[in-house]
Amino acid sequence: MKAIWSRNNTERDRAEESGSELSMIPNWSIALAVVAFLGAQYLFHFVMPHNKPGMLPMRLMMSYSCGTLIASYILMIGYVSRDVRRRGMPAALWMLIVIIMPGGVGAVVYFLLRQPMLTRCPHCTTEIASTYHFCPQCQFQMAPVCGQCFRGVQITDVFCTQCGHDLAEDQAPARLRVFRD
Ligand SMILES: [Zn+2]
Ligand SMILES: [Zn+2]
Repeated sequence: MKAIWSRNNTERDRAEESGSELSMIPNWSIALAVVAFLGAQYLFHFVMPHNKPGMLPMRLMMSYSCGTLIASYILMIGYVSRDVRRRGMPAALWMLIVIIMPGGVGAVVYFLLRQPMLTRCPHCTTEIASTYHFCPQCQFQMAPVCGQCFRGVQITDVFCTQCGHDLAEDQAPARLRVFRD
């Protein structure tokens, strides 16, 4: 097991990850959402007939809620279009499901079934799922595991919760041990 990943690297990667959730929404879907919202205002205030003057509050409420609903749906489609790629899922299929299934059901299905995010092995840059404990190409250790049964453990555990193995004997890589104290 190799230990070449420095702590600085880990912190930088984590910062990039946390700041990128909002930037996952592409510009085209933001523009489209604004257009859809303005379109809803136009539809309710100019296209629909104004035969009852007392209906203005109702009209404002309807145009605002409809516009917001459509706009957020478009933003979500934009988010999914980028999110599928970093999880290695079939993009065309999932875009179709999210767009076609009515009332946002497709999006719910997507968020229930989506695969874990792909990361790159810091040692050999192979694309791997974030749930892996070891890189399948170079055996680089990605997460703390028991040295006897190789199930995942917490870095603060002294003994393995599955087989009772003494974890101090395993000589976990230094980059994993830094979080223990
Ligand atoms: Zn690797
Ligand atoms: Zn174990």
